Amino acid sequence: MNSPTDPALLTIPPYEAARLDALRRLELLDTPPSEAFDRITRMAAQLFNLPIAAVSLTDSDRQWFKSKYGISHDTIPRQLAPCAMVAATSGLLVVPDLLEDVHFRDSGLAADGIRFYAGAPLTTSEGHCLGAMCVLGLEPRQVTDDEGQALKDLATMVMAQIELQHALGRIDPVSGLANRNQFIVDFNDMELAEPAGDMRLAALVSLASPQELSDAQRVMGGGYLDEMVRDVVPQLRLAGSGKIYHVGSTQFAFFAPRGVRLETFRTQMQSWLDARASHGHARFITTVTVGIAPYTIGQTEGLDLLRNMHSAAHDGLAAERCVRVFSSEHDAILQRRFWLVNAFGAALESRNQLHLVYQPKIGLRDGACASVEALLRWSHPEEGAISPGEFIPVIEGTSLARATTEWVLAAAMRQMAAWRHDGVTLQVAVNVSAVNLEEPDFCDRVLKLLVRHGLPASNLAIELTESALMRNPKMAQATLERLARAGVQLAIDDFGTGYSSLSYLQSLPANVVKIDQSFMRNLACDERRRALVGTMIKLSHDLGHKVVAEGVETVEVEDFLRAAGCDEVQGYLHARPLAPNALAEWLAARAR
Ligand code: C2E
Ligand code: MG
Ligand code: MG
Repeated sequence: MNSPTDPALLTIPPYEAARLDALRRLELLDTPPSEAFDRITRMAAQLFNLPIAAVSLTDSDRQWFKSKYGISHDTIPRQLAPCAMVAATSGLLVVPDLLEDVHFRDSGLAADGIRFYAGAPLTTSEGHCLGAMCVLGLEPRQVTDDEGQALKDLATMVMAQIELQHALGRIDPVSGLANRNQFIVDFNDMELAEPAGDMRLAALVSLASPQELSDAQRVMGGGYLDEMVRDVVPQLRLAGSGKIYHVGSTQFAFFAPRGVRLETFRTQMQSWLDARASHGHARFITTVTVGIAPYTIGQTEGLDLLRNMHSAAHDGLAAERCVRVFSSEHDAILQRRFWLVNAFGAALESRNQLHLVYQPKIGLRDGACASVEALLRWSHPEEGAISPGEFIPVIEGTSLARATTEWVLAAAMRQMAAWRHDGVTLQVAVNVSAVNLEEPDFCDRVLKLLVRHGLPASNLAIELTESALMRNPKMAQATLERLARAGVQLAIDDFGTGYSSLSYLQSLPANVVKIDQSFMRNLACDERRRALVGTMIKLSHDLGHKVVAEGVETVEVEDFLRAAGCDEVQGYLHARPLAPNALAEWLAARAR
């Protein structure tokens, strides 16, 4: 036990610089309260049956409480604090009565009515004393040997907790920074300690795009990324004032100071990026982006916050050296897309979520229906009907595009075979995605399916949008020429909405041009639009194509189209897309 003999001990412990460095490296100062420490502090107060206990860390000029019980302030001046003496001597200190003690008689503690103090040193495995695990009372008191030992044990438990937090699973071995796990732990502690409903900000710095990372790894190996990380850590300390977390291989996150405004924070981050660029850190040329995400205490989950920051930083890739703020609308779209892809994958495997409906095309000269368009319908067990206008564009960007077209082709051909069996000959048009044309075996698969169902190739038409055709014109051309030679019909869908070159369209083996339904709206009262549609019909005829108008809903539009020489119409005026049974009835009714 120490008795305070040398007043110098009150201020400067030996090896103070190394001690402070050890304390700072642990990144404990000014971190939020943590239940892991509070538990030990409560236990200390109970064990001694005293009103006050604390885990008190000795910083250069203050005692800062990592955990406290029975006191309201977070910090007291280091000078004249008994804990500072524990740090200086690395030994158990007991002051039975502060008023009787020559050094502490005049300390702030005594003025606050505190009479008793006992503190055990918090010593690291390297021998640095960080501060004290202390208990305080309002009456003078003695400490038994057993109590002294118990206090030392509690101090050891605190140190075990500190070292545990700093060890495996919490610290990134490359950067030495707290990792993603620690980010979540600290975030959860903050949620418990701070006022619910407070809006805060956090930022994620991403050092490179996924493509750059993959390239760097292939060319230079993983060591290169480690070097990049070590290189950036000192610079990151300039970007954020608080603790920095290493949350992904080349991603770092930190919480913005409390109360900072979004615009201020965004400007700060942008200045950091600009400064970094102008200092010419040319060793690593990658796209550095910053994603900022707001969060609300008590409402946001730590993992969601990380994901939001990630998503914002990823959006930042669109422009170099960019700071992006997370937008929940954008996130909702991404979430929905993600859900659609997963749910549609399941739908393809299910037996009853997908089916085809068929919309008739009617000849304007004879009023006959010789062909229909197959349209996909998805009925989700919980969500109900989901429109192809929503899910098709999402699916087309994924590997499901192949399986989807495969499913539609197979279902359409089964139906065509059934109709043929019943003596009904209908050409069926199937919508095909751009990516399908890039599948090397697409043509073979289509032709094989026709053979399997005993169908002539001319029974099948394929509809492709202008933009699909323009995606990879050479590939599209080759595939389509093979299909056309086999006798499969080709229609250019949604004509007039894309930017296709006329000379390219002319070179395609297309039989049909389908004028997009957007041109049919307001046709009756829009002279210029009528002129446009008239020109499209004439042009298509000149190129040798048959013309179908989509989305025809009124007699006036149909009359105009007939006069303009259009060959066929498709639209609600005649029929909505129909299930096979309903189509059979519709055809029978027309025949009558
Ligand atoms: P699309 O190929 O241009 O199909 C025509 C769309 O117009 C269909 O919408 C049809 O229901 C709708 N429609 C028909 N007549 C009228 C009308 O008079 N007024 C209005 N307002 N709309 C009419 P749907 O079925 O919602 O399909 C939307 C798009 O989704 C299709 O446009 C097509 O691009 C795509 N799609 C549908 N099924 C498939 C499929 O099996 N595979 C692929 N790749 N795409 C498909
Ligand atoms: Mg179509
Ligand atoms: Mg269309």
